Amino acid sequence: MILSALVFFGFLFFWKGFAMPYENSAQCKMLATHCCCCGRPLVDAISVELGIGPDCRAGVTGGIEPETQREANILTHRAAIAAQSGRISEVLDIAAQIRQLGLPVLAQKVATRFKNAEKNAKITIQARDGLLVVKTPYRRGMAAEFVEAWRNVPGRRWSGQDGANVVPTASKRQLWDLLTRFFPGQYGMGEKGLFRIPNPDADAEVE
Ligand SMILES: [Zn+2]
Repeated sequence: MILSALVFFGFLFFWKGFAMPYENSAQCKMLATHCCCCGRPLVDAISVELGIGPDCRAGVTGGIEPETQREANILTHRAAIAAQSGRISEVLDIAAQIRQLGLPVLAQKVATRFKNAEKNAKITIQARDGLLVVKTPYRRGMAAEFVEAWRNVPGRRWSGQDGANVVPTASKRQLWDLLTRFFPGQYGMGEKGLFRIPNPDADAEVE
């Protein structure tokens, strides 16, 4: 019984090994769940494929070459994935590429939501010698919980010199949990540029 189960799972693993390249191809990797322009959840199959909802795409890509349209579709999908993953710098790069395609109105729509993000970024994370130097605003209203949460991040210490909490890179997960708890939806600047902390309670308005 155990042996047959092992053989079965062994087979599954073997088979999956062959299936992997396909599953890992760009299109299969991640599903666009939110519109790249307004961030509202996408509900129909076409919108999910394009990464943009019907309201936001109305009128912005009409009358263009099929090849340009195809490239724009790929870019909006990528922008949607980047936005929902919090990689805001990447969204802004893609908006610039959409502009270069000759679609300034669409580019504008993709970028507008994050226009002031850099200015509003109050959190910074810098990598240094296997450590993360993390600056955040203070949570006055939740001071006790906030201090306690920082204490619970393994290996964390306060650096007076940096005016920041310093966390081992290995505690990245716990750091992210803290940021998600106290700063949902806020912007920060990290090694890969501008990012946004997910907001699990974001409004569920549907496009
Ligand atoms: Zn939209």
